[in-house]
Amino acid sequence: MGGMGLLEDRVAVVTGAGRGIGRAIAEVFASEGAMVAVVSRSLASCQAAADQINSRFAGKARAFAMDVADSGSTSVVGKEILEAYGKVDILVNNAGVTRDGLALRMSEEDWDVVLDTNLKGAFNCVKAFQRSLLKQPAARIINISSVVGLMGNAGQANYAASKAGLIGFTKALAREFSSRGVTVNAIAPGFITTDMTDVLTGEQKEAITRNIPLGKLGEPGDIAAAALFLAGGGASYITGQVLTVDGGMVM
Ligand code: NAP
Repeated sequence: MGGMGLLEDRVAVVTGAGRGIGRAIAEVFASEGAMVAVVSRSLASCQAAADQINSRFAGKARAFAMDVADSGSTSVVGKEILEAYGKVDILVNNAGVTRDGLALRMSEEDWDVVLDTNLKGAFNCVKAFQRSLLKQPAARIINISSVVGLMGNAGQANYAASKAGLIGFTKALAREFSSRGVTVNAIAPGFITTDMTDVLTGEQKEAITRNIPLGKLGEPGDIAAAALFLAGGGASYITGQVLTVDGGMVM
């Protein structure tokens, strides 16, 4: 192989990496030399993603099943990850779910599942890895928010609240961890082609596309490229920011 990647010798944990955006982030990190803990809820999903990454970048990926919404799980599996690698340099909080519906009819359960996964899940993962992150010379936390957290979206009160909450969490942590050189940033993706947006009808996708200046949905690789930038040495003076990657939808 040879050649130095941007993330050589660094250990990254990417949650929600079984599919979609997280999987693309895990793959691009591995391609730049990082050792990647590929985390998702089901072992089948993260194992398949890790196998696929290892087929191109041998030995770089390892699968870990974890439920980010469950602090017992993040604590136990977090310890396994720290034992496997000895440290964590980069944490990407990407695991997320939707339970859409109008607020008028939204059940308490749909509110709780989305907030527990998308917002508390990031808190649980920070708790699991913060000691190690704070010891590394240039650690990174990257939270995957959404343009919906900036703009709101009818039918997604729970999701918008979770994603706006992640932005506040990002800024507070950026201030708390700054003295140790740990940067904490968020990415706000627009509409990206994954299983999550696969449920949209062709008509809905056309309506969305009309509001995207660049005229198309994004790809998981577009978000992975932004995550790689924030994870790398070139972004060491950037913290507490929200990088919107949405084809120009929000400006
Ligand atoms: P996706 O294709 O639905 O994949 C979601 C991933 O999250 C899966 O790997 C899933 O695990 C994992 N996950 C869900 N709940 C989890 C839990 N409790 N514990 C651990 N892992 C869990 O989603 P995506 O579209 O790639 O989205 C990734 C992130 O980007 C999410 O936070 C989403 O809100 C955000 N985002 C997406 C878009 C978009 O247009 N797609 C736009 C803005 C923001 P399994 O594979 O095991 O099921």
